[in-house]
Order: sequence, then structure tokens, then C-alpha cells
Amino acid sequence: MEPKAIKPKKVVILGSTGSIGTSALKVAREIPDHMEVVGLAAGSQGETLGAQAREFGVKCLSIADEAQRETVLASAPPGSEVHVGEQGLRELACLPDADLVLISIVGTAGLQPALDAIGAGKDLAVASKEILVMAGEIVMSAAAEAGVNVLPVDSEHNAIFQCLEGNPVGADAVRRLLLTASGGPFRTACPDALDQVTPEQALEHPTWEMGRKISIDSATMFNKGLEMIEARWLFGVGMERVEVVVHPQSIVHSMVEFVDGSVLAQVSTTDMCFPIQYAVTWPHRIGHSLEPLDFATLARLDFEAPREEVFPALRLAREAGTVCGTMPAVMNAANEVAVEAFLNGAIPFPKIWGLVEEVMGQHLVVKSPSLEALIEADAEARHMARAGLGR
Ligand code: NDP
Repeated sequence: MEPKAIKPKKVVILGSTGSIGTSALKVAREIPDHMEVVGLAAGSQGETLGAQAREFGVKCLSIADEAQRETVLASAPPGSEVHVGEQGLRELACLPDADLVLISIVGTAGLQPALDAIGAGKDLAVASKEILVMAGEIVMSAAAEAGVNVLPVDSEHNAIFQCLEGNPVGADAVRRLLLTASGGPFRTACPDALDQVTPEQALEHPTWEMGRKISIDSATMFNKGLEMIEARWLFGVGMERVEVVVHPQSIVHSMVEFVDGSVLAQVSTTDMCFPIQYAVTWPHRIGHSLEPLDFATLARLDFEAPREEVFPALRLAREAGTVCGTMPAVMNAANEVAVEAFLNGAIPFPKIWGLVEEVMGQHLVVKSPSLEALIEADAEARHMARAGLGR
């Protein structure tokens, strides 16, 4: 049953021009009585940001690239404020009007704004898994202290969140969180062929349309590795209780196995609008026109074990998430450098995980790090990764 008189949730979208950001705007178009966009931020696409602002009547805007400020202003509604750079993101994250801040910036640029939003008492909807990988403990404990909700947008974590609702989450109740993985474009590829993979081939995801960074992460399985660590923090479980199962159809978005052997799964068509909408309307469910599942036409659902010997990302993530401290931040930073280098044609595909493993091997872990120590470890890892590109 749809709730009657709910006020629309006022939402700031950080990363509105990207894949998640544009899906979030699609949701806003679909459920205007439940979602009102009050702030928009982007990186470099000034014209698109201006057009989005005009369509949704949003006057609080931010663009990372200062040179794009005038372009944004030219098409934004009259009287708009256009902030710039990191400070701009931070201003938007604390917008007095906002109830919920959606962090959908690729990488870790959304970390400080996320902490600012928590400090200002806003609920967070988190798509940017990198910020939870880098500083999950800090983000989750700040949110708990401030009494705000962290709502997962990643389809797997949104699925687990839904499966856990109304259920206890402790080790005496939950045996395993089972993250499903499509397996990416090279799920069945011969290991010897991976040396020849081009960026174009790696960007061709079989089931999801996503930004470039996450598409490469899906091809290497680092996406699932990052998600294992993300799950650890979001749901407060040890790494030993987070597992990955390959499910090529991407229909079962993830599962929870309870100690009595029951498994709950969340299932829907492959469209990020589903988890985005649930993060926005939670704790309510609202009808929409997205394509429902047709079980009669679903020929089959397959499940298989990941090929960890071919794609070591899961092993590396398990190590990083078990050691914790600064190690997840280091893994994430080295991966970002490696992905960029691969996309620029500077390194072959398998060098992505080779480089990450090399940097992790050189890092001296700092236990219980402060935010400053994490930022320092991130910078050091990027430096080490760049130095290792030519080796
Ligand atoms: P995209 O590359 O499509 O979009 C990234 C967005 O971030 C763009 O709006 C970009 O702006 C903006 N941006 C980049 N740098 C800055 C900055 N410094 N300040 C402000 N905005 C910035 O990525 P995705 O949407 O695919 O992914 C976003 C995040 O969500 C990632 O962390 C990803 O792992 C996660 N995610 C994505 C999923 C998907 O289906 N795409 C699924 C689950 C999680 P501009 O384009 O203007 O430069």
C-alpha cells in the first residue's frame, strides 16, 4: 500500500551528469510527489549540468571545473548560485533545505562532502563505493553518532539491505552475505587472452550500462572486491562472512543466508533506477513504470564460483578488508591509478591487478587510522602506483 501524505524528499545529487546521477534524475521525473531535487553537482559537463538545473528548477549548483562555471550559469535558472571545486561539493552537501544527499561521484572525491552531510544531519544515499572502501569505519561511526541513515545504492548492497530489513544482523542470525557478480565481459575468457584485452572490449559490460571506471572494475572483478569491503562496513560483518557468487544474468541482486539455512534474495530487472528509488523513498515503497520481472520469459538463472585464480581481485580485497587500517584505501587508490593507465593504453589489462598487488605489498599498514592518515596513505599509494607503471 502506498503511504498517503508523504512530503517529497529533498535530494542533493553529487555527480548528477554520470550514469547513476542521470538514473537518479530519471527517478525524480517518475516520482515528483516523492522526490524533489534541490541541489546538483558535476565534474566537467557544464552544459549538461545547466540543462538539468533548468529542467528541475534547481538553483543550488556546483561544478568541479571552474572554467565551466559561466557555461552552467548561462543555462541554469535565473538567480542560481554556482559553486566550484571541492568547496562547492561541501556547500551542497550541507544545503539547509536537503533531507538526503546522494553521493554518486566516481572515486573518493565524495568522501569529505559525505562527512559534511552527516555532520549537517543529512541522510546519505551512497553509490560511490570507493568512499566506504577508503573510510568505511569513519563514515559509519560518524553516521551512527549523528543518528543519520546510510542507504546503499549499489544494487548488491541495496538488495542485502532489503533482505535484512526486519531481521537481526548479528553472527548468531546471519551466516553469510552473498554478493552476486555478473562475472563481467571476460567471465569465460581464456587466461592467456587477457594480455590482449583492449579498453573497448573491457568497457563492454554484458548486463549493466555504467560509467567507465566501474565498467573496468567489473571486468577485473575489483568492483566485486570493493563491494566486499563496502558490505563489511555497511552491515558491520567480518570479511569471512562476505562471499561472492557469479550470476551472469544479474537478476538476483544479492542474498543473505541466515543461520537456519534460509536464504533471502532480492530480485528485479537490471536497472539502477530500482535501488536508487528505494534509497530515496525508504522506508516506503512507491509504484513506478519500470519494467517488472517476467518470470515466464526468464529462461534460467545460473550461479557459479568466481575464477579467483584468473582474477585475483577478490583475494586482494579479502586481504585488504581483513587487515583493514589503511590497506583498503591503498588497494582502492592503486586500482584507480591502474584503471586510468589501462584506459589510456599505458598498461596491459592484467597489469591492473599486478600493480595493485605490488603497491599493497609495499605498504606498511597503519591500524585504526585517522582521516588524515587515510588521505596520506591514499596519496602515497597513488605515488607508488604511478612509479610502478613503467615496470
Ligand atoms: P560516471 O563516470 O558515469 O559519473 C561520475 C560522475 O561524477 C559524473 O557526474 C562526473 O561529472 C562526476 N564527477 C567526477 N569528478 C567530480 C568532482 N571532482 N566533483 C564533482 N563531480 C565529479 O560514474 P558512475 O555513475 O558509473 O559511478 C559513480 C559511482 O557510483 C562510482 O563510485 C561507482 O562505483 C558507483 N556505482 C555505479 C553504478 C552504475 O551502474 N553506474 C552501480 C553502482 C555503483 P562530469 O561527468 O560532469 O565530469
